[in-house]
Parts: sequence; structure tokens; C-alpha cells
Amino acid sequence: MKFAVDFHIHSALSPCGDDDMTPCNIVNMALLKGLDIIAVTDHNSCSNLPAVMDVARENGLMVIPGMEVQTKEEVHIICLFKRIEGAMKFAEIVYNSLPDIKNNEEIFGRQLVFNAADEIIGKEEKMLLSGTILSVNDVFVLVRGLGGICIPAHVDRMGFSIITNLGFIPPNLKVKTIEISKKISPEAAFLKFPFLRKFKHVVSSDAHYLQDISEREFFIELDCLSVSELFNKLD
Ligand SMILES: [Zn+2]
Ligand SMILES: [Zn+2]
Repeated sequence: MKFAVDFHIHSALSPCGDDDMTPCNIVNMALLKGLDIIAVTDHNSCSNLPAVMDVARENGLMVIPGMEVQTKEEVHIICLFKRIEGAMKFAEIVYNSLPDIKNNEEIFGRQLVFNAADEIIGKEEKMLLSGTILSVNDVFVLVRGLGGICIPAHVDRMGFSIITNLGFIPPNLKVKTIEISKKISPEAAFLKFPFLRKFKHVVSSDAHYLQDISEREFFIELDCLSVSELFNKLD
């Protein structure tokens, strides 16, 4: 069966994410758009995942706990976990690996934490849009150790991409799946970087605004709608 997916969505916790990217709004917009599985992947934090997962459970949407981590090489990697516990453990490590810089709301935007009723319950003070001290290799080792998977983000783009910043995808990482931006077709990405054909790929929105969340346009083929099926497919 084919399931409509979007594995790269930011909430209002990401300073660059719109304030309307609340747990209820994200889940409801994903349902309106007819998506079957989404992942919420804020920059270097998972603080909105408990609320998002609660809302999703009540509304029958499958949400994969995730994060978009920024490595010390300034590479963005989408990390997906089977369970929220794994994501939260990773988030703690990442938080302690971020430089102690205060967010400047005026310049970068607010970093809002919500409950499942979309009430603001906190603000992240540390700047989340920074590189951690974790290397790409560290991230792969840590995420795998917590039962998760790593997907190099927007590999077709110039900024924060593993190809641009490292020059290649190191074979020792044993990357299985890469992410291609919604703005380019996979075929165009493969023409630009022919070696990408050997990987499985997902196409994601990297939505920072509700309207940018994918429609039913990118699909994954699974025998049934289950987290373990999905991870077998991506890994
Ligand atoms: Zn990114
Ligand atoms: Zn992103």
C-alpha cells in the first residue's frame, strides 16, 4: 500500500518556524492535506514532540518523533526514532552539545514550546539554530544506538548539505536513505549528483509554514501502516 508522507516539518520551536506551527495546527493541517505519516523535526530540539504526539494520537495521525540536527560540520541530518523516549534522550545529548548562546528573538524569532492544547508553556532560551559539537559520525552512532535512523537532509541544496559540506557521503556512515527537497524533482537531483541514485530517497517539504506542508504528493510503499514496517523500509 502507498502512504503519503512528509518527514521534515518544523514547529514554532524552530526560530525560523512560523508561530502558527503549533501541535494542533500541524496535525490538523497534515490530516486536511490527506497525509498518512509525518515527522516533526525541529532544529536541535524535540521539546514540542510530547504535545505533537498527544494530539496525533487523539486524531489518528501517525507522527514519527524526529529532529533536524546540525552537526559541527554544519550538515543537517533528519533523525527519526521509533519511540519518543529515544528522541528525548537524543535531544538531551544534543542540547548539551549546543553552544551556550542566547536566542535573539528580534532577529531569529521565538522558540515556543506548547502543550497539547496549543498553549505556550515555555520558550527555549538557548539558540537552537547553531551547530552542535557533534560530528556527522557522532550523530549516526548516537541515533543508531537509540534505535533511530539518520537521513541526510536536503542533499540537493547548497546550504547545510552533507554533499556541499563534506564533499561526499562517507561510506562508513552506511547511509540508506537520503532526503531530496520538494523544490527539485528527484530526477533533477540525480542528474546533478548521479551517485545519489544508489540510495533510497524521500522527498520532504521542510515546511516552516502550515501551507508548505506536503500534499498527497510523496509516497512510501509499505505492507501496512506500522512504525517497524516504515523503519525497515527506510533503513
Ligand atoms: Zn535544514
Ligand atoms: Zn528543516
